[in-house]
Amino acid sequence: MTVTLGHYIGGAAVAGASGRDGPVFDPATGDVRARVALAGRAEVDAAIASAAAAFADWAATPPLIRARVLFRFKALAEQHFDDLVRLVVAEHGKVKADAQGEVTRGLEVVEFACGIPHLLKGAFSDEIGRGIDSFSLRQPLGIVAGITPFNFPAMVPMWMWPLAIACGNTFILKPSEKVPSCSLRVAGLLAEAGLPPGVFNVVNGDGEAVDALLTDERIAAISFVGSTPVARHVYATGTAHGKRVQALAGAKNHMVVLPDADLDQAVDALMGAAYGSAGERCMAVSVAVTVGSAGDALMARLTPRVRSLRVGPGMDPASEMGPLITAEHRQRVSAYVDLGVQEGGRLVVDGRAIRLQGYEGGFYLGGCLFDGVQPAMRIYREEIFGPVLAVVRCQTFEEALALTNAHPFGNGAAIFTRDGDAARAFVRGVEAGMVGVNVAIPVPMAFHSFGGWKASRFGDLAVHGPEGVSFYTALKTVTARWPSGIAAGASFVMPTMR
Ligand code: NAD
Repeated sequence: MTVTLGHYIGGAAVAGASGRDGPVFDPATGDVRARVALAGRAEVDAAIASAAAAFADWAATPPLIRARVLFRFKALAEQHFDDLVRLVVAEHGKVKADAQGEVTRGLEVVEFACGIPHLLKGAFSDEIGRGIDSFSLRQPLGIVAGITPFNFPAMVPMWMWPLAIACGNTFILKPSEKVPSCSLRVAGLLAEAGLPPGVFNVVNGDGEAVDALLTDERIAAISFVGSTPVARHVYATGTAHGKRVQALAGAKNHMVVLPDADLDQAVDALMGAAYGSAGERCMAVSVAVTVGSAGDALMARLTPRVRSLRVGPGMDPASEMGPLITAEHRQRVSAYVDLGVQEGGRLVVDGRAIRLQGYEGGFYLGGCLFDGVQPAMRIYREEIFGPVLAVVRCQTFEEALALTNAHPFGNGAAIFTRDGDAARAFVRGVEAGMVGVNVAIPVPMAFHSFGGWKASRFGDLAVHGPEGVSFYTALKTVTARWPSGIAAGASFVMPTMR
């Protein structure tokens, strides 16, 4: 019998009550492995009430005690690491080693958040005037909601909730309805670690639950990660309802390859960056920009590698690339490949016909490689989010940089070269939030902050690292004196120092 996954509210698993649910697939086989409840306003309301009830006590809990809960969670998550990895592979489809990497990168944010007593230290200025001191502190916002995409079932929620709760907020997570299990498992582990009921809640659902969160006045802030059209909607609606919003969005990351680059390294890097996780990463490289003679040399090395890419189920250690998330998404990506051919792109490797024996129902697509892609083509302009790499040829470094900067997205960008001057000019001039030099996927570590530019992010603060702490707290600056002696009388002028 298929189970229906519900929510986690007020420290307990709660069944869905809206009467709506959706399928959760195993992308490797195409089977429906579970159903997931899709929350309506009443369930969202229950989660908000539970987070509201927990807020005052949690905000008053010393940061050191909050950190100790996270330390215990970290130990439990390590103990149940394989479970979390298995859930990621089962619902997302990515290969096991990649899922292990994802869970590890997520837990690194927990490690960072364990340092919250230090991170929340304010600033103090002694004697800003005679007998007057000033200090600043950061306080929690209240109830914060996180809305996350399907492509990192463990890591992207961990970009948000560890710091949000470490800062003293209570949290409602609305994970992608395609990958609900990991978040429910995390909720159970947090409870086991001693997190008080109501501090971390999970509401499963779709756009209806999101809109209920965006419009409720009790929610102080929204962290969103997902596609650009939904990010725009979340940012516009959330801010119109008075909330602080950070909305990380889609991408079309360029990797520029100069003729002096180590081409073997560049090809290795491109294989992982373009086809790892079946291209379903916001930091995937989907455009390779070759300069001059790098074009033919790169294609000669890359083409056989893409042809021999090993596609298979995520739990098979031989697989380098798993399936796409749903049959519908596979169809959408495949239609982009059709379109690229119609637009005049040269399809050098065509993965559309792939069939895996024993996994005929799985959502697989082989690696696809286009050469001769032009900036006006839709396969260049739009995010495909699949294993499709477009190669664009330029003649000069300046042309490659201008092309990269003209694209509406600006999440990540990379350059492969041995020329320090060119690399420095690229780092300084490229319009992207995260830049790699001979590193194809420059995902910042937890103690730095993650966020793109242009249509890849709305809202001015990035996630995790120092900007995450700023996002989840409000700054308060205090000016204090302890008067003694004779009263000086009322003053009607702007106070100044003389
Ligand atoms: P999505 O935008 O379809 O969904 C993201 C979340 O929004 C989900 O929780 C979903 O339930 C909800 N949602 C979907 N439609 C909605 C609507 N109409 N109204 C309100 N909420 C809605 O994204 P996805 O397909 O799950 O994830 C892939 C996308 O996420 C890609 O565009 C990828 O680039 C992006 N992404 C970006 C980053 C980043 O850091 N910039 C990281 C990971 C993924």
